[in-house]
Amino acid sequence: MKEHDCIFCKIANGEIPSKTIYEDEKYRVILDLGPATKGHALILPKEHYADLYELPEENAGEVMKLAKLMMKKMREKLGCEGFNLVQNNGELAGQTVFHFHLHLIPRYSADGQKIGWQPQEVTPEKLEEVRKQITD
Ligand code: AMP
Ligand code: ZN
Repeated sequence: MKEHDCIFCKIANGEIPSKTIYEDEKYRVILDLGPATKGHALILPKEHYADLYELPEENAGEVMKLAKLMMKKMREKLGCEGFNLVQNNGELAGQTVFHFHLHLIPRYSADGQKIGWQPQEVTPEKLEEVRKQITD
């Protein structure tokens, strides 16, 4: 996708207004318009990368450092008691905006949210088969 067609490019670069809670030369952190909880935020690189596959390693490290900074700040300011980091890659995995973003989701007791998956039954043999498939 061309950068000018991407809504998160426009938001990250300030062409479309957003509720910004952090900004530096390379990143903007905004409040999600459809928040899971109070303070749900998105870390956006100002450069366009579709997903984590495309995100350069250097940026991956910076994004995680920034996540730590924002988590600390939100714990202090919002009093959240837990945190989920969510990052979707691909439509099948729930990605709806194809500009890399990391969700920062503060958690509160009784916030009513359920973020997770249904654990499946697996045998030790199957686990070993999968381990081999990935590592061989
Ligand atoms: P994902 O499903 O991981 O691609 O997440 C996309 C997220 O972007 C969703 O949580 C949306 O609520 C959020 N979102 C979409 N458009 C905007 C926007 N203009 N400003 C803020 N958040 C947005
Ligand atoms: Zn973009």
